[in-house]
Amino acid sequence: MSFASLGLAPTLLRAVRDQGYHAPTAVQSAALPPILAGADVLALAQTGSGKTAAFVLPLLQRLLTAPPRPGPRALVLAPTRELAMQTAQLLRDLAAALPQRLKIALAFGGVSINPQLMALRGGCDVMVATPGRLLDLIDHNGLTLAGVQCLVLDEADRLLNQGFADELQRLLALLPPQRQSLLFSATFPAAVEALAAQLLREPVRIQI
Ligand code: AMP
Repeated sequence: MSFASLGLAPTLLRAVRDQGYHAPTAVQSAALPPILAGADVLALAQTGSGKTAAFVLPLLQRLLTAPPRPGPRALVLAPTRELAMQTAQLLRDLAAALPQRLKIALAFGGVSINPQLMALRGGCDVMVATPGRLLDLIDHNGLTLAGVQCLVLDEADRLLNQGFADELQRLLALLPPQRQSLLFSATFPAAVEALAAQLLREPVRIQI
């Protein structure tokens, strides 16, 4: 299996090579085609499986073809600052190789909100955030989620374990119903299944 055979655009193939990836991992092989096709995906994937690139690559490719909007067109929710930082870093590394200038915003709690509000002044294409701080930014009029076309819940089991269920529900209510949704989780307890049932439309299920 090669990244090219999965439908990745030439600019992203170059970005992937620059990143030192020679062949897709199992979760990437399974996830890229349905995500590129616009389907909702429910993926059981552990850290270390290459799951981040499995949603970051198709997300970037879809942004290359979608018309620009003032607010973020893609939203990635992560349970921890560390995970949000890693995901934003991969997005920025890959986006740096693209002809379009995509703006990747990052926000998490435990630090002052003002620099994050300032960074959002010029808008952004992708928002990577922990749920509580994202709600704070919205309450401060830092951004609106009305233009989000693709939502990713990364490590959904940890999002729920860490008590973000209420924040998630508040955020989901702010998203346009017409969107693509992707849910990645290392485990599938009943609470994650319920969230998936609420969130996803006829999802492609991936279990590596
Ligand atoms: P993740 O599961 O997303 O946390 O990724 C685990 C590690 O695998 C990261 O250090 C990635 O840089 C690396 N990685 C992801 N995809 C590939 C690939 N196709 N080839 C080689 N390394 C990869």
